Amino acid sequence: MSKIVVKFGGSNLKTKKDLRKVLEVIESYKEPVVIVVSAFYGITDFLSSKISGSLETKEAIENIIDELKKRNREIVDENIPDFAYSKKALQKLDAIVGKLEKFLLGVHYIGEVPEFLEDQILSFGEKISSVLLHTLLESRGLVAELVFPEDLPLITDGEFGNASVDFDACELKIKTRLSGDKIYVIPGFYGVSPSGKTTLLGKGGSDYSAASIARCIGAGFLDIWKDVNGFMTADPKLVENPHRLEKITYAEAAELAYFGAKILHPRTVEPLMSAHIPIRIFNINGALDHTKPVSWVNSEEVVLDGVVKSVTYSDEFCIIKLKGPGVGLKPGVLAKVAGKLSEEKININSVITSQIAINLLLQKKDKNAALHALKKLGLHTVTEVHALDEVSVIAIVGQGMLDNYGIAARIFTAAARVGINIKISSTGASQVVSYLVVDRENRDKAVKEIHDEFFTNN
Ligand code: ASP
Ligand code: MG
Repeated sequence: MSKIVVKFGGSNLKTKKDLRKVLEVIESYKEPVVIVVSAFYGITDFLSSKISGSLETKEAIENIIDELKKRNREIVDENIPDFAYSKKALQKLDAIVGKLEKFLLGVHYIGEVPEFLEDQILSFGEKISSVLLHTLLESRGLVAELVFPEDLPLITDGEFGNASVDFDACELKIKTRLSGDKIYVIPGFYGVSPSGKTTLLGKGGSDYSAASIARCIGAGFLDIWKDVNGFMTADPKLVENPHRLEKITYAEAAELAYFGAKILHPRTVEPLMSAHIPIRIFNINGALDHTKPVSWVNSEEVVLDGVVKSVTYSDEFCIIKLKGPGVGLKPGVLAKVAGKLSEEKININSVITSQIAINLLLQKKDKNAALHALKKLGLHTVTEVHALDEVSVIAIVGQGMLDNYGIAARIFTAAARVGINIKISSTGASQVVSYLVVDRENRDKAVKEIHDEFFTNN
């Protein structure tokens, strides 16, 4: 029987009572499972927000450690009534938190936060939750082993903060390491560089950890437990009665995630596509039945009559405009721009050019660094560099975008109907997505109207 990789995220671990549901889910699987777990909700951000305080005083470090110990004790008290196991859990947790304290002291004494220490420190949210879950499983009489990514080892390319898994270097070893007849519990969010340094897999990266492990062991499924109803035709916070999407393709899921849908990390599908391992998404607030996913992601391409499956949005992007009368015609401008941004480790999400302007779609967090770098580049064809950041990207996703006519016309007509000016649009980069950039203040209106156009009016 193929194993199933089961991932629980921070949204499943918000309160100390939540572990009970997680346990119930795990116990319901008949198949052998490998559990990948995120940090408790908010813990990674908590650690991240406290690192700078550790630079200043040792008292700040004590406060972090006390806070974590207090939380751990509360969770253990709530979930592990058996004294022997609760004692064991607290000892292991204290040991983990003790290690964290040493790294924070390292930061304090060094007087700065080197990348390798930041990644190390931020990985502790997952280390804590995995120890807790593992002890809880054992206390329930289940045969389970806790394996840290460094012990698999889950090898990455070594990029701090945003590493990629190096499958050639670790796939076979991981398959063998996880071949036993028991439950494995693995903390998500990080792997190790070839020299053994902790490297994070990017914000929200536990999904990508779980997908990578699923690929390594040739899992039957990757099951991701959430606290919402899977992929929808639009965000229920913006649109009344959106429909649930039972089935979508890897490509559609990836584009939706890239453009803001919070269901999956955008890189989750990467390791799974070529191995054809389906992702099943479940709502932990619904039926705890792992045969009934709310959404299902695989390679089966379905083109709907209306083509569009979902309308999503993101406020995380900005546009950098480079203007100049000849930027479109002059060879090499784009290469210099892209080269400079790559040097600064700034990712370009999309590029649209014309004769007189180059428009770059970037993450908003990179805006200032990008402006600075591009101004310094001193390209004489470029007369002006500026950023638009009060914008939202609206992505319209569905298999068959390029093969069916009239989709773009309907999108533009819907936007025009409510008087929305589209700043930039792009169709054609992929079979499955068109997107628009609008003023942030027009975001909700645009999403609603475009969603209505495809799902309500017709
Ligand atoms: N705990 C990490 C984060 O907050 C990873 C994850 O949740 O997937 O980004
Ligand atoms: Mg998460």
